[in-house]
Amino acid sequence: MSVEPMVVPAHLRFLSPLALFGLSLALSLAGILARPIESLSLFWPVNAVLAGVLLRYPRLASPVGLSLVWVAMVAADLVCGSAWGPALWFNLCNLAVIVTVWWLLSRPPRAHRRMRTPHGVLSVFGACAAGAVMAASLACVMATPWFEQSLRATWLAWFSEQFSTGVLVLPILLTAPSARALLRSGAKPIRLAPLLLLLASLGLSIAFGGPGAIAFPIAALLWCAWTYSPFMVSLLTLTAGSTLIVAVAQNLMHFSVPQSEPGVTTLMSARLGIAMLVLGPLVVACVSQANRSLLARLAHQATIDHLTGLLSRSAFSHRANTLLDSRQQHSQWLPLTLMMLDIDHFKSINDSHGHAVGDQALRLVARTLQDQLNADALLARLGGEEFVVVLPGLAPQQAIFTAERLRRAVQDLQLAQGNARLQVTVSIGLAGCTPEQPAPTLDELLARADQALYRAKAQGRNRVEQEQVQRQVI
Ligand code: GH3
Ligand code: MG
Ligand code: MG
Repeated sequence: MSVEPMVVPAHLRFLSPLALFGLSLALSLAGILARPIESLSLFWPVNAVLAGVLLRYPRLASPVGLSLVWVAMVAADLVCGSAWGPALWFNLCNLAVIVTVWWLLSRPPRAHRRMRTPHGVLSVFGACAAGAVMAASLACVMATPWFEQSLRATWLAWFSEQFSTGVLVLPILLTAPSARALLRSGAKPIRLAPLLLLLASLGLSIAFGGPGAIAFPIAALLWCAWTYSPFMVSLLTLTAGSTLIVAVAQNLMHFSVPQSEPGVTTLMSARLGIAMLVLGPLVVACVSQANRSLLARLAHQATIDHLTGLLSRSAFSHRANTLLDSRQQHSQWLPLTLMMLDIDHFKSINDSHGHAVGDQALRLVARTLQDQLNADALLARLGGEEFVVVLPGLAPQQAIFTAERLRRAVQDLQLAQGNARLQVTVSIGLAGCTPEQPAPTLDELLARADQALYRAKAQGRNRVEQEQVQRQVI
């Protein structure tokens, strides 16, 4: 499968292999310096972070870039007092994780790589497992002189650490929103209940203890998964996973694997179990995010007319009915006017200049109407070349001036067609109610405005006609 080019955000274009070197050095130094802190010595997140950075910014993943990553990691070890041998070989194992994960995940389409599909989440798990197998195997082959344990114990220690840290850390890098997306979405309040339940169930896991306790947070993680974004869920799975790993390592949860399994420690078993535990919530998070995006797209398509960007007919009906209902509920009725607008001889514009020019005229008329109206006016495309406007707060006697303004604005439009100027005009029919009159239904208003529009057409087009009010004869 081909790798589609990824757009590097403009503000990060300066990131060069040198910056990658600096990042690798800083991360490795931070990792090495954090080792004396007992709980942090359980993690080596540098490989997962660097693999994630290369996947987000693929231009950095050149042979030069990867070599610099290795040189930086070796330099960090040497600065901190390691001998040359282990510094070179161990970091080759680390580089093997980074290259394997990057190579496997740079192949699938972007949606998989950014964990927007269940397949993508499984691919990330598979790539982390493959990276961990590579590192563990290389460690056994090359670094044996520096290990005191058996080969089996060495392999399992590397595999369980690299795999669990990978699946806890890499999703954060892959799902992190870009700075532009963050700015666009702004700060939104988040629901606290799933988060609080997660913290409570983590506390319960540690307080209760025993092998089953690592599964206690599953319900809360699933609730988080369909409530929050995949990025937030990735942060929470890292929090929950690392808390449980530290609790097991500190023997806070009181369980151990039988000693009959040489080389397998309780921590390895717990690490692998915890890594698999977060798979479910991550899949649920990506599926519910996909559902939310699909629903938002469908709602947008149902609400917005795709050609003009105005409200669609169904969205207009919904909003206009709500407006009429709320008018009835107030003790003092507001005046209100509905106007129907229809482009004159539009068929001949299509016939003479083509459908594309007709579409252009429709878009231009829509924009002109929108520019002329206040924010509280409801403007929609009813279909074809017909538009509708509801003006709350204006009785037809006053709204007639707005209608005239709209008619003139369309008449003054500059729609160039070759050397000629294409003339577009609209006819407008008005109907409405004064503060003394109860609100008619939307269908009634539309029918009355349509009759007025019919008269505007009959009387020569490019004009505004008001409904004829029936006067009661006493
Ligand atoms: P009148 O002045 O009586 O309103 O005449 P008219 O030609 O505007 O009215 P008519 O209803 O006969 O024609 C409307 C035309 O609008 C017919 C149809 O091909 C065209 N039309 C409908 N929807 C679209 C559209 O989305 N794009 C384009 N370009 N034309 C459309
Ligand atoms: Mg028409
Ligand atoms: Mg028409």
